[in-house]
Amino acid sequence: MLKPRRSIAGLPPYHSPIHSRAGLSLDLNESLAGCSPRVLERLRSLSPADISFYPKRETGERMVADFLGVAAEQVLLTNGMDEALSILFATYLDGEEGGTGELLFADPTFVMYPTLGHALGAKVVRVRSGEDLALPVGDLLAQISPNTRVVAIANPNNPTGLAARRADLLKIAEAAPDAAVLIDEAYAEFCGETLIENLASHPNLFVGRTFSKAYGLAGLRLGVLIGPAEQIGLMRRFGEPFNVNSVVLACLEAALGDQKFVSDHVAQVRAGRDRLQGLFEELGLRFWPSQTNFVLVRIGAQAKEFVESMQRRGILVRDSCGNPGCEGCVRITIGTPAQMDAVLPAIRDAVEEIGGEG
Ligand SMILES: *Cc1c(COP(=O)(O)O)cnc(C)c1O
Repeated sequence: MLKPRRSIAGLPPYHSPIHSRAGLSLDLNESLAGCSPRVLERLRSLSPADISFYPKRETGERMVADFLGVAAEQVLLTNGMDEALSILFATYLDGEEGGTGELLFADPTFVMYPTLGHALGAKVVRVRSGEDLALPVGDLLAQISPNTRVVAIANPNNPTGLAARRADLLKIAEAAPDAAVLIDEAYAEFCGETLIENLASHPNLFVGRTFSKAYGLAGLRLGVLIGPAEQIGLMRRFGEPFNVNSVVLACLEAALGDQKFVSDHVAQVRAGRDRLQGLFEELGLRFWPSQTNFVLVRIGAQAKEFVESMQRRGILVRDSCGNPGCEGCVRITIGTPAQMDAVLPAIRDAVEEIGGEG
């Protein structure tokens, strides 16, 4: 009999988020505006040598470092930010039974944090946001212990869309000098804030970025981990040298070079977000004012029926009920203006159908 590590066998079964995606996908926070035409152009011009040779990640790391205004030694490119999370967690959390390393985060948040923490056999310490779903800064500070090895904070947060105050995030980093404090900035472009400028003064701070959201490259898989050069160097020792594919590396210059695509997309998302939040207000539904490309709304006891009703109307939205603190809540990604023209009346009809108004 094969015996997987106990921490792996103990994980809940995997359910693909993609099993049935017939319809307009407003469930995974992807870009509904696609990606920059310059990226598509570069893809069409790929040569055999772009594919047949192993990828040169270092070239991409220099490019991203220049763009972000940090040193190349501080940047690790990864196969999506999910891989950056795996590498960071594996670097600091001592695995397997008997390990004392603690992963600390606040619920509700990105579901990969508990999954990875449990898979690595770490002690997972979770604190809970209050009714406002804001980052519970005091509770996080209170749970920092000498065993805290990683603190993970998505800012802005997924699934709430809320951003925390910079001063609070720095206070947490300062209170846990022996822990890697990761600020997961998957939605930074929509919010306009970043802690990259604070890296120099905080030697335990890391920032994660992704090309999956505002850049519209989720299918190409490119994530970025930025942190202290010495620590990033440690991660290079055990990470795979060819983790990032040559196709996305070939497109990187085009993607970074088309900032107009990114800023136009962000402006479009903000306008769509205002319309969606305006509708929730009108319907008397509780929502959390978002700094991202999605909005979390509380439907109530009929949340599952609402998701099904939307699906019958050809629109996929994300049931967030399983995320602690999000009972009765649904997360909806912002589409293009034309898509939102159809989504808003569909929401109105679905809410009416389930009789869950107010
Ligand atoms: C989408 C997302 C990521 C990961 O995105 P990748 O596609 O793996 O780069 C990481 N953190 C948060 C909070 C996200 O929402």
